[in-house]
Amino acid sequence: MLSFWEKNSFLNFEHIVIGSGILGLSVACALKEKNPGTTVLVLEKGIFPSGASTKNAGFACFGSLTEILSDFERTGIDETVSLVEKRWKGINLLRNRLGDDKTGLLNYGGYELIDEQKLYVTDKINFVNEKLHGIFNADVFKMRNEMISEFGFNSAVVKALVYNEFESQIDTGKMMNSLTDHAASLGIRIINGCNVKRISEKENYVRVIASDSFSDREIFFSGKKVYVCSNAFTKYLLPELNIKPGRGQVLVTKPVKNLKFKGVFHYDEGFYYFRNFGDRVIFGGGRNLDFEKEESAEFELNEKIQNKLKELLDNVILFGQEYSVDYSWTGIMGFTENKLPLIENISDRISAIISCNGMGIALSSYIAEEAVK
Ligand SMILES: Cc1cc2nc3c(=O)[nH]c(=O)nc-3n(C[C@H](O)[C@H](O)[C@H](O)COP(=O)(O)OP(=O)(O)OC[C@H]3O[C@@H](n4cnc5c(N)ncnc54)[C@H](O)[C@@H]3O)c2cc1C
Repeated sequence: MLSFWEKNSFLNFEHIVIGSGILGLSVACALKEKNPGTTVLVLEKGIFPSGASTKNAGFACFGSLTEILSDFERTGIDETVSLVEKRWKGINLLRNRLGDDKTGLLNYGGYELIDEQKLYVTDKINFVNEKLHGIFNADVFKMRNEMISEFGFNSAVVKALVYNEFESQIDTGKMMNSLTDHAASLGIRIINGCNVKRISEKENYVRVIASDSFSDREIFFSGKKVYVCSNAFTKYLLPELNIKPGRGQVLVTKPVKNLKFKGVFHYDEGFYYFRNFGDRVIFGGGRNLDFEKEESAEFELNEKIQNKLKELLDNVILFGQEYSVDYSWTGIMGFTENKLPLIENISDRISAIISCNGMGIALSSYIAEEAVK
């Protein structure tokens, strides 16, 4: 049974955010920054944030050349340019909110490895640069083929290298810790280990029902407004939104002696991505090898994809170099049907703010501002 004090001080808030990933925390911060007097509670089912935000590769990016070209085809040029602008604004909002020291942001730039099959895209650089000029006031993509051998890539496979000076890498763990600390410094209450089971709208408030891992009881929170930021796990709370999970496989090597590259790297329309973290290589992707199995919210390794990652390290990325894999992990992304982020008012009191479709580091701060507006 709850005490008088618990009932009085722990349960009732103006705003309740479900999920403490980068998006949930950004929404909570945006609410408090807009109105410091309001009360904000964040409920997180994991002991720490347990979705994509603590599992990702830490790219502060907005789309490689081949990704952007493929999005031009799929969603249209104007829609794609507008999405790139939102990602770029989001990166800058995150940098302004926390400062680069607190995110570990390093601007070594980004590169895309182009193989024989995709070489034709290099003819389209000027076209894409022109489309993005209004956002960056500069040419975003430049050829840097001279770096292929300097970085130690297999030049029999990598035929061209496209450079993007605007891409950076962050330290994902540092960023999430800093964002959590920032939220706490604004007076936002965060409760971990609190799995929200249901939400139910009443006349003047929303009841948020969570299970308490300490006992078997349910705890009833109440909020004037509720924001569902549970990303890939949204189907358990709002199945009608049809957010599909998409698992990502990642590995990290042990420190590589004389690692030859620094930066963030894309390969095969963004299906593969790797970066340095000091002398280590963090490498992920390959969902396209097994889309069906990877449409899962279970944190399991996929042997086929993990083997492919190692094969690409051997044959392309760390070609002829000695390295060993330290360990592997997985993270779960949330995908909307049209691959665009989603802000949906389920009612006057409940909003779903979900799904940065694999680019949440860039987009979350922007989407949070928009949602709070
Ligand atoms: C392997 C991988 C690599 C990636 N690499 C990059 C990258 O380099 N750059 C980039 O921009 N993006 C990357 N992404 C995508 C990025 O991580 C996501 O877009 C972003 O983290 C989404 O943030 P979010 O807050 O919306 O969701 P999440 O981080 O998934 O947060 C949702 C939170 O809600 C909680 N939750 C869910 N259900 C409940 C419930 N019922 N009750 C309470 N809490 C609940 C979860 O525990 C979780 O903490 C990557 C993703 C993965 C998986």
